[in-house]
Amino acid sequence: MVRTALAASLLAIGGCAVAGANEQTPAAPESVAVAPEDDAAADAQSNAGYDAAMAAADERQRVFDDPAESVVLKGGLVQGGLAFGETLPGAKVTLDGEPVMVNDGRFIIGFGRDHGPSALLVVTHVDGSVVRRALDIGDRDFPVDRIDGLDQSKVSGFTEEQLKKIGEDKEKKTAARRTTDAAPYWANGFSWPVTGRISGIFGSQRILNGEAKTPHSGVDVAAPAGTPIKAPAAGIVRLAEGDMYFEGGLVFIDHGQWLESAFLHMSRIDVKPGDKVEAGQVIGAVGATGRATGPHMHWSLKWMGTLVDPALVAGDMPQAGGAGN
Ligand SMILES: [Zn+2]
Repeated sequence: MVRTALAASLLAIGGCAVAGANEQTPAAPESVAVAPEDDAAADAQSNAGYDAAMAAADERQRVFDDPAESVVLKGGLVQGGLAFGETLPGAKVTLDGEPVMVNDGRFIIGFGRDHGPSALLVVTHVDGSVVRRALDIGDRDFPVDRIDGLDQSKVSGFTEEQLKKIGEDKEKKTAARRTTDAAPYWANGFSWPVTGRISGIFGSQRILNGEAKTPHSGVDVAAPAGTPIKAPAAGIVRLAEGDMYFEGGLVFIDHGQWLESAFLHMSRIDVKPGDKVEAGQVIGAVGATGRATGPHMHWSLKWMGTLVDPALVAGDMPQAGGAGN
């Protein structure tokens, strides 16, 4: 079973790397890697494509010493990408030497916006055998984003009182991030919490009222205030605060194994810490609270403290008013 799954996964690694990417992302060679697996009629004509896809996948995903083919990876081996893994129960996994949480063989690995061109995945099985994979991490270009007209008190020159509030908010966020659930709530994939025009992309270099700030931590979708925000995947609510200094109405959902969604600027919050939410469940509504120029949904995704790009896991934006989610 694992063997069959691996063949599919190699393709998946290539095919999903740019899913949901914006036009800012150059078309990557791996985007050809889509296999029409069960379509017999298409077989003959697709052989060349299939071979090219396998070659491309092999090139990106050099497998050293994995005779048992015991590791499956699906997702984006790219800056800001997240890959979902499956291996044999009981295995231990490290990424670049850091231990990764594994539950019954399932695990996540992620790559930050500024990740270098390679990463080392090591899987140690219960029988002592070790699988090492050198992963090629794709490079992305991130645009510069200028936003003017923000309330200057939300950008710099904070008063004592504002700094105190910012500090208290930070403590609440840190406390909410002390724990994670071992269950892989992420396993059924992700859908867009709100559909609409993407008004801000992950990783763009932000210049707010003329001041260079940290890169944009998530993806923004423009939507009218009051639009329901749906959980992109199941999980446990870890934080639900209506009035954070920068974030405004803020909710954290723990999708398990240190993968967390954050929703910012909410006008209404319908959940509380400890609640279990299902994929698609309404957790609150779009607003413009905190540091925002107008109503939109901001969605951030963090794995083990590293920000990754939600658009890569959510995929193509459904048509407005479509049957998405
Ligand atoms: Zn944003």
